[in-house]
Amino acid sequence: MKSHQAIAELLDEPACEHNHKSKSGCAKPKPGASAGGCAFDGAQIALLPIVDVAHIVHGPIACAGSSWDNRGTRSSGPDLYRRGLTTDLTEQDIIMGRSEKRLFHAIKQAVESFQPPAVFIYNTCVPALIGDDIEAVCKAAAERFGVPVVPVDCAGFYGTKNMGNRIAGDAMVKYVVGSREPDPLPPAAGQLGLPVHDVNLIGEYNIAGELWHVLPLLDELGLRVLCTLSGDARFREVQSMHRAKVNMMVCSKAMLNVARKLEKQYGTPWFEGSFYGIADTSQALRDFARLIGDADLSARTEALIAREEARIQQALQPWKARLDGKRVLLNTGGVKSWSVVSALQDLGLVVVATGTKKSTEEDKARIRELMGEDALMLDDVSPKKLLQVVKDCHCDILIAGGRNLYTALKAKLPFLDINQEREFGYAGYQGMLELVRQLALTIESPVWEAVRAPAPWRAAAVDCPGKAARAEG
Ligand code: SF4
Repeated sequence: MKSHQAIAELLDEPACEHNHKSKSGCAKPKPGASAGGCAFDGAQIALLPIVDVAHIVHGPIACAGSSWDNRGTRSSGPDLYRRGLTTDLTEQDIIMGRSEKRLFHAIKQAVESFQPPAVFIYNTCVPALIGDDIEAVCKAAAERFGVPVVPVDCAGFYGTKNMGNRIAGDAMVKYVVGSREPDPLPPAAGQLGLPVHDVNLIGEYNIAGELWHVLPLLDELGLRVLCTLSGDARFREVQSMHRAKVNMMVCSKAMLNVARKLEKQYGTPWFEGSFYGIADTSQALRDFARLIGDADLSARTEALIAREEARIQQALQPWKARLDGKRVLLNTGGVKSWSVVSALQDLGLVVVATGTKKSTEEDKARIRELMGEDALMLDDVSPKKLLQVVKDCHCDILIAGGRNLYTALKAKLPFLDINQEREFGYAGYQGMLELVRQLALTIESPVWEAVRAPAPWRAAAVDCPGKAARAEG
């Protein structure tokens, strides 16, 4: 179990905007409000996309169900990450003091059944409370089975989901990063005559495969992604993250501590960027070139941006005409609140309001820059408030996370899922084409006209007053 001091150190994240207010690991749940996931949930969700690792949840089986597979993160190869592995502790294990033994055997079974390159162990509330020493068990198992076994000490009661993200990042820096050198470059790289620069993407989860919209651009520029923490990642890639020349924090503050620690330990510069929207994608590519400091790379980057922007603008034209002037209510958390605003404005939509519940002061300043000083920012994103804004501002669509789906549908309002459960990838230039297609399909769907019209039996009842009275009765 983590000591008070270890938790306090994790809460104190100097690179996080919220730090100056209180070293709280971000927003604390209020009594009666949904906490939005525990620290274990946050840690597992952050590391589960490392696709070839056996992820074992050490605790009662319900914990494993809490976060397993609830993000549409995709793999280009191994699918071991999709197995829900748990020690499934029962009260008998706890009373008889055999929970550490069960963990050891679970690791053995995972290694023998799947031969993974590594095993990750997620601690949960029950074993933390009874004092299981998961670090010692992991060490003993690693020696016995000859496979790295990484303890991720993330009991739910340590804090919020955001805190769990931090714990996950901390475990990677502490136990994994730096334990292997990167693969040598393939011979083909030399034949092209391009200098190759190694980079990392931190906080990119390859949801709906959107990382694959971006990789071809980086490839073309000679930027080799050593590791994406953690979308479509392999354990061996995480091990070699320390050799990158630049780290990009992708559209998320969840693993800021990883970027900061890699800068401190290995001197790797980092920047925050987003691949949502044409302008932000171009800016992210420019930032790589700027931080690497290669004039030739900068020139090639500008040429690629010019070509891709022209191509995508042409492809977007027919869609833009259909969507021009449509009014959007956006309710998404954190950094996405401004990066998606910028993407929607690129498409000619009017963003009438955006949710800023999880946004920092810096995020809010960027929103004001994009939407003007009078931008409507919603800290209260209850269903009632959202529907009021939809009505007052005559919105055509609600773009939000899955938990707002039924709010929109009950109000007969078009809805697009932009959060972690989304089924389509919107990153990069190509992602804009998918975004515009999904927006048009949603807004123009004939279902809205049908559900907003009076029910046929009501229309018939109006023709006949007697029927109307009976229908009402
Ligand atoms: S709060 Fe504790 S018991 Fe509940 S899901 Fe999280 S780790 Fe498991």
